[in-house]
Order: sequence, then C-alpha cells, then structure tokens
Amino acid sequence: MVDVKLENVVKEFDGVQAVKGINLHIKHGELFTLLGPSGCGKTTTLRMIAGLDYPTSGKIYFDDQEVTYLPSYERGAVLVFQNYALWPHMTVFDNVAYGLKLKKLPKEEIRKKVEWALELVKLKGFEDRYPTQLSGGQQQRVAIARALVVEPKVLLLDEPLSNLDAKLRLEMRSEIRRIQRELGITVIYVTHDQEEAMAISDRIAVMNVGTVEQVGTPRDIYERPKSEFVASFMGKTNVIRAKVVERDGNKVTAEFEGLRLDGLHYEGDKDDVVLVIRPERIKLHPVENAVSIEGTVDLVEYYGFFTEVVGLFGDTRIIARTISDREVQGLRPTQPVTFYIDREDIIVLPKQL
Ligand code: ATP
Repeated sequence: MVDVKLENVVKEFDGVQAVKGINLHIKHGELFTLLGPSGCGKTTTLRMIAGLDYPTSGKIYFDDQEVTYLPSYERGAVLVFQNYALWPHMTVFDNVAYGLKLKKLPKEEIRKKVEWALELVKLKGFEDRYPTQLSGGQQQRVAIARALVVEPKVLLLDEPLSNLDAKLRLEMRSEIRRIQRELGITVIYVTHDQEEAMAISDRIAVMNVGTVEQVGTPRDIYERPKSEFVASFMGKTNVIRAKVVERDGNKVTAEFEGLRLDGLHYEGDKDDVVLVIRPERIKLHPVENAVSIEGTVDLVEYYGFFTEVVGLFGDTRIIARTISDREVQGLRPTQPVTFYIDREDIIVLPKQL
C-alpha cells in the first residue's frame, strides 16, 4: 500500500480542461472517494492515477516515486471498471488467474493465490462457472478478486456498484469496506452517490467542474461544508438565499423574506449569502440559543421513522425533519408554524450557484 499524491494535475481534451489543476494527498491504507456530479472529472482523475491516461501537466506520486508517465503495470495500480469487463469465454478461475499467468508464475502458486482471492470475496466453489452463470453481484466480486490477486499497491474502483440493484449495492458496499480493512490496502473509489460516499469512505474529495471543492471526512463535509455547492450536493438540505444586513466582526444579521436572523457566524465579505440548514437540525419546539421564524405549514410528509414538515416563509420553502410523532400531530397545511434553529446550526456561506 502506498500514499498517492497529485500535484497540480491538469487534463485537457481538445484544448478543454476536464481536470483543472487538482492537488490531492491520499494516505496509505485509506478508502478515499472522489465524489461529484456527472462530468466533473472523477473518471478522468482515476484513469490518470491508474496510468491508463496521462496528465497534460502536473505530477503524480506513489510514495516518493513519481509515476506520472509510468504504465499501469509498472506502477502497481489496478482499476476495476463499472461494467466489470470479465472475459465471457473464461471461467471464474481463469478470469482471476489471468494476470498471474501473464507474469508466468508457477502453476501451484497461481492456484493458491486464486484460491486466496476467491475466498476473500466469498466465491470459493465458483471456480468453474462462466460469467454468464453469475449474478451481477458475483460478477463484481470476480472483478475485485481479479484485481486483488496481483496484490496492487492501490486499488481503483470506478462506480463499482452502479449496475447492481439497491439491496445488492448495500451488501457489496459493506463487502468492499470489509476487504479494504482486512487487507489494509489503499483504495480510491469513484461515485456520484453522496450517501454511498458517506457510508464507505475514510475521506471524501467533492469535485465540481474539474476542481476539488473540499476534502474531508464524511462528518466534516456534511457538518462543515465550505461552499454552497458542497452543502447542496451532500444530501437533502435547506439552502436559503439571504442578505447580510448588519455586521459586528464575525457576527452578522442576515435577512430573507423580511425575516431577520441575528448572531450568525460568517467570515466572508460578500453580502449575498446562503444559509445552509440541515432539516434534522430544525426544531418545532423552543430550544436554547435558537432563532425562531414564523410561517405557515405547506406540507407534512410521513416517512415512517421520521416526518418532514415543509414550512412556507414568504416564497421560501424550508424543510424540518423530526422523529417525534407527537410534534407533528395536528399540523395541517396553511396553519401557522414556528421553526426554531440553534444559531450554531446555521451555516452562512457566500452565494455561489
Ligand atoms: P461520470 O460520472 O458521468 O462518469 P465523471 O465525473 O467521471 O462523469 P469524466 O468522465 O472524468 O467525468 O469527464 C470529465 C469531462 O471530460 C467531461 O466533460 C467529458 O465529456 C470530458 N472527457 C472525458 N474523456 C474525454 C475524452 N476521451 N475526450 C474528450 N473529452 C473527454
């Protein structure tokens, strides 16, 4: 396992920058995720780390060795593709053994290593099957076994779960995490699914049009987004357009829809801001250090283990989420409602989008 470093990595296609000078430091033994919407440059970045594509400029290091222009097999990175890319005419055993046969290892050693890899992905006994005789999840496991059997320094996974149904996706997600922990291997994972990224990663880089907007643990990124883009990409959240109308150092008063919220923390200098508030942080009963806003109920949506109350404040809809059934009983559309929000739970960021 290795540290992977990217220094000012740029990738141009036909003069257009798909990756715009990114810096990343992925630590050994870490499960690191590149997260972002379609087209933001995740796959391009992964392919450059894999050595399947080379940067237009910038450098890539595995530990202290520069690998920017080294081919895949010389740098010890293996990429597992979204569609698995198994050879249909080969058995599971031969698919997994392929890379070892290329290396011309002795037969007995190949057999042992393949056995080890298939055991790791829980596919012992499937050696003689062909890919078409396997479920999607099993094919995915073969692809992972085939990648791991050559003992890569870094394993790269490009949207590995996107072809699986919802239940299998959860199962394979835990499997990948288990295998990564068991081997202590460095894994770089690409997904556009924020929930998947949160669940599986040690750290996440959130990407947006070829740049890295924020790097941090899932908790950091969810609790302390540094930009409007990151805040709105990480799950269902309230992003409220507002204006700073008063300042006292880092404490500001912001206004939206004629409502004034004072005592908010803000370090920026732009007056056009957004207030980011997670729905589960909004209370329907008074709490200490809270600001309160009065509006009307627009909708009450029951989800089973929680209920969402959508409040209407002028033209602005704000979602509150509660696990208390009692609190929402009797709330009907058009009735008045008061939301209470701890000032600490209001993140003020410069307007970006
Ligand atoms: P997705 O989740 O849809 O796979 P992504 O974040 O992985 O998206 P990339 O595939 O890295 O995004 O693409 C980034 C940008 O680079 C896109 O605008 C894409 O059209 C462009 N691009 C990628 N590969 C090439 C190529 N070989 N030639 C020209 N443009 C390319």
